[in-house]
Amino acid sequence: MTTGSADSILARITGPVVMIGFGSIGRGTLPLLDRHIDFDRSRCTVIDPSDADRTILDHYGVRYLSEHITRENYTEMLTPLLTEGDGQGFCINLSVDTSSLDIMRLCRELDVLYIDTVVEPWPGFYFDTETDNATRTNQALRETVMDERRRSPGGTTAVSCCGANPGMVSWFVKAALVRLAADLGRDLPQPAVGDRDGWARVMRDLGVQGVHIAERDTQRVVHPKPVDSFWNTWSVDGFISEGLQPAELGWGTHERWMPNNARTHENPTAPGIFLEQPGATTKVRTWCPSHGAQHGFLVTHNEALSIPDFFTVWNEDGSADYRPTCHYAYRPCDAAVIAFDEMFGAAGRLPAESHVLDEDEIVDGRDELGVLLYGHARNAYWFGSQLTIEQARELAPHQNATGMQVTSAVLAGVVWALENPEAGIVETDDMDHERCLAVQTPYLGNVAGFYTDWTPLSDRPGLFAEDVDPDDPWQFRNVLVH
Ligand code: NAD
Repeated sequence: MTTGSADSILARITGPVVMIGFGSIGRGTLPLLDRHIDFDRSRCTVIDPSDADRTILDHYGVRYLSEHITRENYTEMLTPLLTEGDGQGFCINLSVDTSSLDIMRLCRELDVLYIDTVVEPWPGFYFDTETDNATRTNQALRETVMDERRRSPGGTTAVSCCGANPGMVSWFVKAALVRLAADLGRDLPQPAVGDRDGWARVMRDLGVQGVHIAERDTQRVVHPKPVDSFWNTWSVDGFISEGLQPAELGWGTHERWMPNNARTHENPTAPGIFLEQPGATTKVRTWCPSHGAQHGFLVTHNEALSIPDFFTVWNEDGSADYRPTCHYAYRPCDAAVIAFDEMFGAAGRLPAESHVLDEDEIVDGRDELGVLLYGHARNAYWFGSQLTIEQARELAPHQNATGMQVTSAVLAGVVWALENPEAGIVETDDMDHERCLAVQTPYLGNVAGFYTDWTPLSDRPGLFAEDVDPDDPWQFRNVLVH
């Protein structure tokens, strides 16, 4: 089996290729596909209403269609492109404001492979003030895809949510568990790829109480951003949308306290809860290797639900015997932290200008993105990617370090789908983490694990009375910044 060395062809797409959206992630994905996937450039189309990066498309010799994909036009517009000529087509959805579910369903009807990096809805979902907050959660979004999987099991592969996070981090969780078991001297046989119960028992038996998706982005620019502008290292639209969704997390069976504004879902098997407050104003304590303790935003993400769902050990009566807590703890680049602060200060008014920082504007910094497995006999273990902007520039064009962690996961997902074309609808938790990381790792900089004795009760100088649970450091009560 081939691994992902920097310039090898890893797989072949026999039919047409359609990429929807050519923003920061599309721009970075195309050079990786060009390098590692054998496909017919003359049957490759990129659809995006903005032609800002037309020259890149011309350079790679792919067609450009200046269109908005909409609820009304997607079937008519995509069907001929996805079925043009011989072979099996591939649809790579990297846009905002298009329905992942509808496009995935169409692709499977046409026997076309499909991948996206998020369960994206048609416009209107994120900012709907007429509905309740439960309706705006990722639980609601993810369930649309899970319902489709139950309604239509098997069939043509569609990979849901295969970016860095959601995506790669699910592969990191399994890789971290295998390393943790070895370091704890536990002789646990590695479960098969799709053996959810087996993997869940491994996590439970290793004593893992929970998982933070712990990220610190230190990429920075020379000049600070102007007021009333939102700069980020990936989609500004995407970040604002998810930042204004309710804070949401997978809810572990060890938790013994809930915030007053926490809400559970009507569905008793739902793996998570949400808070009646935006994720981008909700802070949690976490830890990343380079800078240690940090506050991160508890922004909702698909992996905060898919990971705890995958790692649930079920009782026969349908209740959860074991489930880890799981959530994002994201310290974005400084410019984005300030941008959100200004936006909330201005009563949520959207900034006049938005911009994704490209690899030439960033002067230094890195994206450190990993999984922090906590509560076990060695306290906490962070495993992940430390990728600098300098490394990203050297590895491939048109992307910063954050983008490369995403685009290389898309590449891994494309390769996996081509090798497993009849797997039905999958999340990255269902995929072979070793194969996917073998493809992706050349693009991840330093991939390593670090133990820490830091806990959410560390570094509390006692100047103010605090609402903590002193008996169990990793309770969410201690993690949440009150
Ligand atoms: P971006 O904002 O830079 O680009 C989005 C592109 O979509 C833009 O070029 C825009 O013109 C285009 N677009 C908007 N409406 C469209 C429509 N109706 N039809 C076709 N194209 C349309 O975003 P990005 O940083 O490239 O991110 C792309 C997607 O990937 C977003 O949904 C984002 O949330 C997701 N993402 C996921 C991860 C992950 O790790 N899973 C990470 C980064 C981004």
